[in-house]
Amino acid sequence: MKTKLKIPPKAKRLLSELSKEADKRGTPLYLVGGAVRDFALGYSTRDLDFTVEGDPTPLVHFCAKLVNAKPVPFDSFGTWRLIGGKAWDIDFATTRKEEYPSPASLPVVSKPAPILEDLKRRDFTINAMALRLAGKGFPDLIDPFNGLKDLENKVIQILHPESFRDDPTRVFRAARYAGRLDFNCSEEILRLSYEALKAGYPQKLSRHRLSSEFLKILSEKDPNPILNQLRDWGYLDLIDPQLSALSWPDWKGLSAESRLGILAFSFRENAEKFLASLSLPRDISNAIVASLKIAREKSAPREELPKLSQEILKFLFPKISPSALLPLKISGKDLEALGINPGPAMGEWLKKISSLQWRGKIKSKSEAIRWLKKSIH
Ligand code: ATP
Repeated sequence: MKTKLKIPPKAKRLLSELSKEADKRGTPLYLVGGAVRDFALGYSTRDLDFTVEGDPTPLVHFCAKLVNAKPVPFDSFGTWRLIGGKAWDIDFATTRKEEYPSPASLPVVSKPAPILEDLKRRDFTINAMALRLAGKGFPDLIDPFNGLKDLENKVIQILHPESFRDDPTRVFRAARYAGRLDFNCSEEILRLSYEALKAGYPQKLSRHRLSSEFLKILSEKDPNPILNQLRDWGYLDLIDPQLSALSWPDWKGLSAESRLGILAFSFRENAEKFLASLSLPRDISNAIVASLKIAREKSAPREELPKLSQEILKFLFPKISPSALLPLKISGKDLEALGINPGPAMGEWLKKISSLQWRGKIKSKSEAIRWLKKSIH
């Protein structure tokens, strides 16, 4: 079947180079997953996932030269990532078959598997298409589950009824694609996501996997419809029951990490516990915690705030004076010069100055000193 994909010229050139090389080597090479879906929708993408029925290594090195990137092996499944290229984010893997020994467990993998097996292990029909890049008739679309038809009908469908038992993160993914693409989820998804929850499958997911899904949702251009959908399905409670009681602000254009900070602020005294439950990188959680502290104390920071903390605070306090987020204009040394010795009194003066700086009443060191001289005497 000839494709109806609208592949942008730059991608077409790359695919065609790879296709020639794969042909020369007799290597069965496919473009799979999100890129095929996005090209079918007429969208462009930076993310290209290639899969090979066999060892991808020689093609990985060939492709790395083409796109000027460094090949790095990145997991235990013999997968490669090309790092540092300007135009593309490229992964290579060997086709695999996956079996789930128990609900929500990680799969047992066998590889190389025929491309059809590799497509069968995928989440939704629209993500289970492949473009055959080697052999006659390139580019040839392999669409065993009628993903193209579901793209036309704007519907997300799973591939088999055990899908959410095997991997309940797919419920989060279904909501994410439905929200992002403005598609509907099939009746089967609605029914089986409910049954999976009743059977306790998503409750078996590790915090790490849940957090990763949550962060992917917060990274979407507009996470709000996705969060609403998951709340309706009862899946948001799995991230944290307090989330379901929140409403989502208009936070277009913000990063996932900033959005997380904004949500955490609504958790009030439970904010730190919520953040700790999400297994975040340390620098991210530190920056969010720093912004929460400032937001509660409503006083200028003692030290330079990370960009992320500033972004969160600017959103939480849109009218804030620019000087409020800058490091405190005055130090203990300045106070000592004014005759205030280290101790509780110095702490009190510093607190007063930070509060005035937060409110925009003090914008410079000289203003701070002037205010101190007046107030001390
Ligand atoms: P996005 O645009 O969100 O990056 P993507 O389709 O590229 O979309 P990835 O999460 O990068 O999404 O996954 C790549 C492909 O791997 C998907 O298209 C899908 O075929 C498959 N996949 C990813 N996660 C799962 C899963 N949990 N279960 C089954 N297949 C999955």
